[in-house]
Amino acid sequence: MAGTAYRDRYLASTPRSRANFERAAEALVGGTTRTTVYMDPYPPTVVRGQGATVWDLDGNARTDLLNNYTALILGHAHPAVVAAVERVAQGGTAFAAPTEHELRLAELIKERLPSVERLRFTSSGTEATMFAMRVARAVTGRPMIAKMHGGYHGTHDYAAAPDGVGIPDEVKALVIDLPYNDAAAAEALLEPHRERVAAVIVEPILGSGGIVPAEPGFLQRLRELTRAWGMLLIFDEIISFRVDPHGAQGLYGVTPDLTTLGKIIGGGFPVAAVGGRAEVLEVLDQRRQAPFLAQGGTYNGNPVGTAAGVATLEALTPDVYQRLNALGERIRVGLDDLFERTGAPASVTGIGSLFNIHHTGSDPRYLPELGLGLLTEGFWLAPRGLGCTSTPMTDKTVDAFLDACERVISLI
Ligand code: PMP
Repeated sequence: MAGTAYRDRYLASTPRSRANFERAAEALVGGTTRTTVYMDPYPPTVVRGQGATVWDLDGNARTDLLNNYTALILGHAHPAVVAAVERVAQGGTAFAAPTEHELRLAELIKERLPSVERLRFTSSGTEATMFAMRVARAVTGRPMIAKMHGGYHGTHDYAAAPDGVGIPDEVKALVIDLPYNDAAAAEALLEPHRERVAAVIVEPILGSGGIVPAEPGFLQRLRELTRAWGMLLIFDEIISFRVDPHGAQGLYGVTPDLTTLGKIIGGGFPVAAVGGRAEVLEVLDQRRQAPFLAQGGTYNGNPVGTAAGVATLEALTPDVYQRLNALGERIRVGLDDLFERTGAPASVTGIGSLFNIHHTGSDPRYLPELGLGLLTEGFWLAPRGLGCTSTPMTDKTVDAFLDACERVISLI
């Protein structure tokens, strides 16, 4: 059973973060402004990030394996990104007009994802999936959306249904959950709704659900079924776009109708996108005669954010992906070996630059305690075990992380 081996050390090394959190709890609900940055007893307050390292208010340095939930593929304050942001910001930060930065980023994305013939930017992944689903409903004239059990697409009503607090039952009734990686069962559940489902949305690599890659044939079968039944297939590549220059769709060789992107395409800024077939996305075109789907968004395609995205994608050459993925593989192999050697109640999943540690037992305290232990030993993962590599990391980073894991699992 996991104990509290690291709690005292964490408390002793983070008094300023604790004070800051107590103050924050009087202004921000729950002391944070995002559910997923909380951890028990309180998260460290970050003051600075550089490369693969972040520093907290108490001066503790940690290697950041979370990278703002996989968004910072170049690590923190990458010189090319900082230079682009400074240059663009000097000339004004937001305009109610097109800029060359959003266009350049759109063209870079199109080069990498042939399925993206046209796209629109949004400020968050939540908006990207919301518009993808609304576009699908608009073009098919159908009301329902099918998602994968364990999938995550943000916080709007259709994304949060069929569970979710504050979601009307009427919306919940329009969302069905399909089992991920079980094509036959998914087909059987989808078939009765074949006339009413507008789109199937799927992460080709389950992200928040534990970094679970699609099994061979699963995405292909979804492609066949959606095509046969007149539904759109939406790939939510907000996390998975980091595994290959051509995203998970390039890796798997399956072409969706629509793709949602976020995280890495903003280079650390709030930029996301919905892209796909020109014929489908035409419904968003305000120039057309027929009624169109209006898309607002004061900061859509923001020049500073899209310039940061351009600098990021330009730095991501094929050899860089290879290096990031090799580091990811080294982590997964190392953890596999560690868990087997020590008999720790844990396993690891992942692909490319992504990994997720899972607890194989039934102790709800195990993963949080592992996370707190790693934090105390100088490594930052999501409390649920999610991690990823970034370009400033090296083999040495991985070795030090594996050593820390070994120390922590022997103590918890
Ligand atoms: N889809 C996926 C696959 C995600 O991982 C996320 C964010 N973790 C979202 C959608 C929502 O993106 P955002 O947090 O930018 O709204």
